Amino acid sequence: MTDNHSHLPPNLRKASEFKLRTKLRELLKDGNFLHATLNERSRVCGKKNCKCASGERHEGLYLVTKRDGKVRQLYVHPDFHDDVRQWVANYQVLQQLINELSEISWQRVADREM
Ligand SMILES: [Zn+2]
Repeated sequence: MTDNHSHLPPNLRKASEFKLRTKLRELLKDGNFLHATLNERSRVCGKKNCKCASGERHEGLYLVTKRDGKVRQLYVHPDFHDDVRQWVANYQVLQQLINELSEISWQRVADREM
């Protein structure tokens, strides 16, 4: 999805736009979206007899994002790791699709073919 749609001739641009809209529609229909960064951390808890003392560190997954100018983070329960990773990925795809459609609109204005 790294094609540069903005420099396509108008007929190809239409086909490209159609593909983008189709993908967007599919994603909107079934996907959940999460605008955040995933932050994986492993740590040692400090208890002498814990498994982490022999190298098996505790894994933690956190969501990090900004809201109202403040960074906030959220611990993700292991049961939700797969879903949350998918939601974050969905958001990124969604954003990219919208950006590409925006580029097409930009070019349409530039070419005066509304
Ligand atoms: Zn431990």
